[in-house]
Amino acid sequence: MISLTSENVRLRVSAKTKEDAIRAAGQVLVESGCIEPGYVESMLGRERQANTYLNHGIAIPHGMPQDRELIKKTSVCVVQIPEGVIWNDGTTAYLVVGIAAKSDEHLGVLAALTDVLDDPAAAHRLATTMQGSDIVDALNRKQPKGVATQELVDGEQLEVTIIGQAGLHARPATTFASVAGEFESNVRVKFGGKVANGKAMASLLKLGVPGGGRMVIQASGPDQTKALEALRDAVAAGLDDLPDEHAIAPAANAQVWTPASQGRSIAGVCASPGLAIGRLHIFQATVLQVVELGKGEELERRELAGALDTAKQQLEEIYDAVSARSGKGNAAIFRAHQAMIQDDELLNEVKLRIETGKSAAWAWQTGIERRVVEMRGIADEHIAARAVDLHDVGQRVLRLLAGAEHAEASLPDEPVILVADDLTPSDTAKLDPRKVLGLCTASGGPTSHTAIIARSLDIPAVVGAGPAVLEQKAGITCVLDGSAGLLYVEPSQEDLESARAFQQDLRVRRDVENENRYQPAILTDGHRVEVVANIGKVAEAAAAVEAGAEGIGLLRTEFFFLDREAPPTEEEQYQAYTEMVRALNGLPLIIRTLDIGGDKVLPYLTLPEEENPFLGVRGIRLCLRRPDLFIPQLRAIYRAAQHGPVKIMFPMIATLEDFHAAREAAEKVRAELGAAPVEMGIMVEVPSTVVMAAEFAKEVDFFSIGTNDLTQYTLAMDRLHPALAKHVDGLHPAVLRLIDLTVKAATKEGKWVGVCGGVAGDPLGASILTGLGVAELSMSLPSVAAVKARLRDLSLPAAENLARMALKCSTAEQVRALQPA
Ligand code: PEP
Ligand code: MG
Repeated sequence: MISLTSENVRLRVSAKTKEDAIRAAGQVLVESGCIEPGYVESMLGRERQANTYLNHGIAIPHGMPQDRELIKKTSVCVVQIPEGVIWNDGTTAYLVVGIAAKSDEHLGVLAALTDVLDDPAAAHRLATTMQGSDIVDALNRKQPKGVATQELVDGEQLEVTIIGQAGLHARPATTFASVAGEFESNVRVKFGGKVANGKAMASLLKLGVPGGGRMVIQASGPDQTKALEALRDAVAAGLDDLPDEHAIAPAANAQVWTPASQGRSIAGVCASPGLAIGRLHIFQATVLQVVELGKGEELERRELAGALDTAKQQLEEIYDAVSARSGKGNAAIFRAHQAMIQDDELLNEVKLRIETGKSAAWAWQTGIERRVVEMRGIADEHIAARAVDLHDVGQRVLRLLAGAEHAEASLPDEPVILVADDLTPSDTAKLDPRKVLGLCTASGGPTSHTAIIARSLDIPAVVGAGPAVLEQKAGITCVLDGSAGLLYVEPSQEDLESARAFQQDLRVRRDVENENRYQPAILTDGHRVEVVANIGKVAEAAAAVEAGAEGIGLLRTEFFFLDREAPPTEEEQYQAYTEMVRALNGLPLIIRTLDIGGDKVLPYLTLPEEENPFLGVRGIRLCLRRPDLFIPQLRAIYRAAQHGPVKIMFPMIATLEDFHAAREAAEKVRAELGAAPVEMGIMVEVPSTVVMAAEFAKEVDFFSIGTNDLTQYTLAMDRLHPALAKHVDGLHPAVLRLIDLTVKAATKEGKWVGVCGGVAGDPLGASILTGLGVAELSMSLPSVAAVKARLRDLSLPAAENLARMALKCSTAEQVRALQPA
């Protein structure tokens, strides 16, 4: 057992805030050589997760279990703040007991502390004493004085083991006492010859039960059996203690970089993950000056036609370059630009102005700017966001008309963090990842093209950071954390070094994860989770196997229907699915039937415009109305299933009737083909399906939870809305509780549950989902190796503990804080 030394006591300290007080305690431990400075941040992080105020003006800040390697020697310190510091609403701390414990050696001090906690007069005395030795003596009392309660003579008892390394410290003791408090019976706890009142946290702390310690719980009263059962379950569930270092892999903890000092940072929205370190380059678009008066109608008309032709050609070249580098989807915007400059209404307006004697450049600029202003004013954020495209293509033509082709704002030659108000798609397309280390824009949202292209180029990016970023001095060194959505301005030398070390660790970690990508995700206790991939193209089936996926959990078939003039035929689909089955070589392939509507539109279908497309005829609703699309697809799936393990999945199922109709159509097709049955599951992405999960579970073979849509429908937030993007978080407790309900309903019927929405590929999300009992996680290819690595470092009880804590959270932020910040 460790003891408090006078070297670790500070008297008459003043602290304005709780943070100051925690930092002061941390400083004492740093100065006495007990901890690394980084542990102070861990103490602050722990405080954000759990309030460490105990009672009678005493708080016990301590770090997070997974940061224990930052402790050089287990120790405690006391900072006395006679004037007090507000700890939380309504509570003021006068004695701050900082704890850095490698395991449970500090329990003796905590036990002694409970004597003080039981005695307000003693607490007051220590808060005001001028002698450090008073505090040292009080907290070093080896044997806690007095036994609070007597053992119970009647009633029942059982023996339990305290799990976790830290033992029955303040947080689990609080949980124990509150569970015991729900029952009328008296509850006593016996350990090492001492007896405590099971309903009083302070009394329980006195027992000093270490991790792995066996204690006896006694209950006596009308509900004694129930009380014992509840306490046994609560102890087995870990008493809400934060998972110890085995619960969350150390590798995963380091996924977020945290600076040691509190420098200046600017917050935006994360658009592309990763960490960039470099000098800022402020990107400013050039303002072109044009002459209003034309040089003659004929000449101006010719110039306009020439500029439009050249612009079209340039756009064609950019389209080819971007689609070769980042795929057709990312390049499509340049096709849209071509269409914008061929808009008849715009061209007629420009020509009319030329006829009245204006220059082509002036006429063009006026026509474009009017439309840009109109678009920006439109309430629909998606349309408003497209104003940047019109402005971009307008400038392209204008530069040609004004003979200022080379007046494009220059991009840097040396590697920099690029800061801009908003980059146009043309600017973003020109970015060379070797020169642009990171991107930070004042406006724009995560669905902007800047964000999409940055992700495809693997450039860390933060968008929507506000005008403050534009006011930064060019050339200053910053750290941009795309994962956290933060730009750290001029961090200290120490922080820069730690950021560089973090980058290096990240690279090494990625390499190690990649090397082990073919290892299954078997948890430390043998529990296995299937890690599979979400894909949309034929070639991605082989790429998924190469990335370490154990099959395909979601084939988004709508991608075969995009970028064409007409739907693919049954034969084309059969060929495509069969090719994928072959590439998978025996690994499972879950084919989701067409999910068109909402954000995915097919121009050739000429469907009526909908006021609320996400609530309209999308997914299965569309397929049931369009047998011309649905039946050939079902036929192709059943035919491909003859070559390997294919499963069918229906999207956007909201009612049992939807499923019955879809199943009937599939069965009819199967009977016609004389094909063998295949497993049939549904996407769970509408809250009504969760509510009715017990009924669905009787009829389906599996559930796959689409958290992207389930989140948008549960929180009533458009998943593409730039202003809401930050909040559409699949780790919101409301969504997690729905997942929990789904898994429980499925388990009752012996069915399995997968998750194929974005949270499955988030290492924290994957850990929580595993703890909730999800059997299969399906994600985009780059996440496979990292998620597998994370799961291999986890045990099922630790994942379950994490899931239980997540379910109890009130906000997504609290859930995300379970991952050490
Ligand atoms: C989902 O909604 O979570 C899902 C996986 O489907 P999609 O993103 O294709 O709508
Ligand atoms: Mg969906």
